[in-house]
Amino acid sequence: MTVPPPAPSAMPTYLGMPRFPDAAARAVADEGLRRNLAHATTTIRGRRAGAVAELDDWSALRESGKQIKDHVLANLGHYLRLLEERVTAAGGTVHWARDAAEANRIVTDLVRATGETEVVKVKSMATQEIGLNEALAEADITAHETDLAELIVQLGDDRPSHILVPAIHRNRADIRELFARTMPDAPPGLTDDPADLAEAARRHLRARFLAAKVAVSGANFAVADTGTLVVLESEGNGRMCLTLPETLISVMGIEKVVPSWRDLEVFLQLLPRSSTAERMNPYTSSWTGVTPGDGPSAFHLVLLDNGRTATLADDVGKQALRCIRCSACLNVCPVYQRAGGHAYGSPYPGPIGAILSPQIRGVGSPVDASLPFASSLCGACYDVCPVAIDIPEVLVHLRARAVEEGPRHPLERAAMAAAGWTLRSPARLALAQRAASAGRGAARRFRRLPGPLHAWTDTRDLPVPPRESFRAWWRRTGGGRTEEEA
Ligand code: SF4
Repeated sequence: MTVPPPAPSAMPTYLGMPRFPDAAARAVADEGLRRNLAHATTTIRGRRAGAVAELDDWSALRESGKQIKDHVLANLGHYLRLLEERVTAAGGTVHWARDAAEANRIVTDLVRATGETEVVKVKSMATQEIGLNEALAEADITAHETDLAELIVQLGDDRPSHILVPAIHRNRADIRELFARTMPDAPPGLTDDPADLAEAARRHLRARFLAAKVAVSGANFAVADTGTLVVLESEGNGRMCLTLPETLISVMGIEKVVPSWRDLEVFLQLLPRSSTAERMNPYTSSWTGVTPGDGPSAFHLVLLDNGRTATLADDVGKQALRCIRCSACLNVCPVYQRAGGHAYGSPYPGPIGAILSPQIRGVGSPVDASLPFASSLCGACYDVCPVAIDIPEVLVHLRARAVEEGPRHPLERAAMAAAGWTLRSPARLALAQRAASAGRGAARRFRRLPGPLHAWTDTRDLPVPPRESFRAWWRRTGGGRTEEEA
């Protein structure tokens, strides 16, 4: 059988990827991708709206979620120390990781210490953020993703393109072909019926769960009061990973801590309705340290900073740390719906990616500097966000930062410097205005600027300078007064 090449939308674009407009232009040209995205996001969006409308107190819940998160962020040191104390008292070990490299080193060393060369994984944004699978592979340790969509992404040597539905860019026919090609234990005659595909994945994964001695997970929340970690999921694969292996290693962003179970209750209502449009997610697993004879006998918690404390120092941008990764903002975003997730060049796509990645990674690269501009600022993301992150406000704030700190074309720098020099002197401004008026004829012929300046005029007309400037008109007419008034 001839195996077709992967679809363009399946191409990994994280490393050395082009800036957002270039990557998005490529994605928008992919009709199949647009069709898959439109179908999936429209369906999830409608369901979410229905699930949220069932609750009379949704806005009060949303406000509570916002306030709890803000309280935690304002007292982060206190709650993290409390969490460390409680996890340690319950028999777990806490590790602190400043950045991705340190977190990867800690996890790799922990796995090596068990003597194992394979781990099973629960879906985790934090481990994607730090590139843990790649780091483990370099140490000859194989990580097996066990979430169905993450498995699809891994088997396709692909990248996730949605927070909740990482393989949203794939349709059933793609997945059937992928399973048949890459899964040695795929049943012959596999169809693209979702039940058949799920059954094939289940059989494939079961052997991994039963053999695994080490599991790696993330965490949706950590309750500081009791030192309890919490994972919400839909498939039960997480429950298997969290209970069957002997060693459990959880990597968690430091902003995921909540003070108490009373606070957790708010998020257990906000998250399922906003993400999968369910009243309650099928599996909520929680564990506190280790319990002899029940679950893993060793538990390690890696607390990951990786740019979060720097984000916390930004008064406007820090609200991004409230995010509970529900992905509701992706499903309503007109830009995400057309460009898909790969164009964002990060595990965090869509509106949240556009404000989170440039903060935790900085705006030094062309792709990160372009992300705050990947929005129409329509505000739909803010309306659906269960923790009321004002994403448009942060986008505008980051646009200013990207312009200040990000890479700029030398011509743009030169143009801005020339404009500054001209505007600082009334005489120079008058001279420039006279020169512009004199060049009216030429400007009429050049409605598009040449060379790298074309980006300015690709989406706008080059204005023809007026015959005379406002200041000249003012002088000539005595401030616009009629002869009688004068
Ligand atoms: S920013 Fe808000 S809507 Fe978007 S993923 Fe985070 S919590 Fe959900």
